[in-house]
Amino acid sequence: MRVPGLKLVVSAFLCLLCVAAAAQAQDFSKAQRAEIRRFAANNSLFVLYHEIGHLLFHQLELPILGREEDAADNVATWILLNKRTKEADLALAQAAEGWALSGIAYDSGGEESDYAANHSLDKQRAYQIVCLMVGMDEKTFRPIANEYRITTDRQDSCNWDYGTINRSLLGLLGRDNKSGGGTEVTVTYHGAGRELQYAADAFKSSGVFDQVADELRNNYRLEKPVAFNARRCGEANAFYDPETVEVIFCYELMQDYMDLYSGSLAAKPAIKTKTGKTKPPKPSAEQ
Ligand SMILES: [Zn+2]
Repeated sequence: MRVPGLKLVVSAFLCLLCVAAAAQAQDFSKAQRAEIRRFAANNSLFVLYHEIGHLLFHQLELPILGREEDAADNVATWILLNKRTKEADLALAQAAEGWALSGIAYDSGGEESDYAANHSLDKQRAYQIVCLMVGMDEKTFRPIANEYRITTDRQDSCNWDYGTINRSLLGLLGRDNKSGGGTEVTVTYHGAGRELQYAADAFKSSGVFDQVADELRNNYRLEKPVAFNARRCGEANAFYDPETVEVIFCYELMQDYMDLYSGSLAAKPAIKTKTGKTKPPKPSAEQ
């Protein structure tokens, strides 16, 4: 049984762009639709690694110095950075872009309560990803850090940020990595219903859920079995539930990412700077 108070919420999205995006969907080319699905899958992948961060913190009883949500983002970034593949680099770049876009679309930081929330502001989450990227590999990621207009001084100091996180996570997770895996993970895709069927199919066919489940089986030895459940939740979100040792991915979140990127494609000139200084067109669903 899940205790709502213990849910660890990765992000709270309102589906403000759904109607606008749905209206535009037929306007996109086949290549653009594939691009939209890839963006949504890459952002979902980042979120899943973020939930894995929560899972590892709790199941391995790891120390967390600082806000857990920030630490979970750092785990997600660190895992992807250390894959050293073009696909993982793209996933990180698109995860940063996803936070930058959602920060604008949902006015993250627009309310005082945003500053008291357990998550950093969306734009800060974007910058933190890019900072760790350039902190790990200056040569490869300097262009993206420049695109985000992170100053050279800050880019240089990001090396310290990355080094601290790398040392900490290697120390905490290294020994478990060497265990050769053995975590029992079950993956279930629940029914989506008509409205979310496309998003559910896109999520399943992207393979990100099964990929992360496999890595958990192969790289970590957790005592308790872990359930991966993809389902409709009534909100665009993802959770780690410590009571049931469950990672829940909501189909609504995949839909939300597709809507977010559809909106940015439709208004590309306004959003391309990724600096948060320009606004996208007002979503038509917003009342
Ligand atoms: Zn979280």
